[in-house]
Amino acid sequence: MESPIESYLARIHREIADLKDGKPYSTIPAMANVNPDNFGICLTTVDGYIYEVGDTREEFSIQSISKPFTYGLALADLGLDAVDEKVDVEPSGDSFNEISLAEGTGRPANAMINAGALTATSLVKGAGGNTRIKRIVNTYSAFAGRQLSIDEEIFASELEHGHRNRALAYLLRSFNIIEDDPTPVIEDYFRQCSVLVNCLDLSLMAATLANSGRNPMTGNQVMDIVPVERVLSVMTTCGMYDDAGSWISTVGMPAKSGVGGGTISVLPGQVGLAVYSPPLDEHGSSVRGMATSQRLSQDMELHFVRAA
Ligand code: GLN
Repeated sequence: MESPIESYLARIHREIADLKDGKPYSTIPAMANVNPDNFGICLTTVDGYIYEVGDTREEFSIQSISKPFTYGLALADLGLDAVDEKVDVEPSGDSFNEISLAEGTGRPANAMINAGALTATSLVKGAGGNTRIKRIVNTYSAFAGRQLSIDEEIFASELEHGHRNRALAYLLRSFNIIEDDPTPVIEDYFRQCSVLVNCLDLSLMAATLANSGRNPMTGNQVMDIVPVERVLSVMTTCGMYDDAGSWISTVGMPAKSGVGGGTISVLPGQVGLAVYSPPLDEHGSSVRGMATSQRLSQDMELHFVRAA
């Protein structure tokens, strides 16, 4: 039997499915052939209730939704101060692939834009080879509560076409923000963007952040509260890039979008929300993801001011 929340979600899903604006990401050719009608909504509460409607089991690449989790892992590895020396916590107001490096030092504005995300990847501990990316994927997996893997075709396509990210990583190397050879960093960043998730995984990842780092399904404490608190702070101010101000006004939750079509929102202490729909707006965020998050926030009073 469908619960009242699921009937409500099904109604919102039907209404917002009519929204046909935006286009799937095409810079990475392996991502361009996705079905633009794919649309899933999944809500997971911190006490482990899951409500889902639509294409919640369809897999797609996590893309920039990887950034807060890798940033959290770098913070857990090195502590806040060491990471802060390399990546600032200020909203840049710029788009995700903007250069946004501080004059003189080259420190990226925050870990949600690509420059800061590449830096965060470089800070995650590893012992060479694939050890760093393994720790990154295992961390995402612990958040999702199942083993995730990398889509090799998307990874290969990122490697071939991600020229701007390569340029950014070399620029960061020139400022000594990235301290070693940028090539493995770029590759690990492309791999982390190519991790396959579905809408259910993302809602569990969001709910784990909402639950102070404890996965509501597995019960495992997958990240300490200190990095979780920092991650949610930076998602609040920077997660939606140049749309962050309008997002926090209308939705009122820390959030992160990705060009794969995923969007997550986190209401601390309560729920994690994930939406999947590939067509993107001019900021690289999902059009239906934005509309659904706004609608649910209003109807269910999820804005952090109301929910308090
Ligand atoms: N792989 C993409 C990039 O680095 C991710 C960007 C995004 O999802 N906003 O350009």
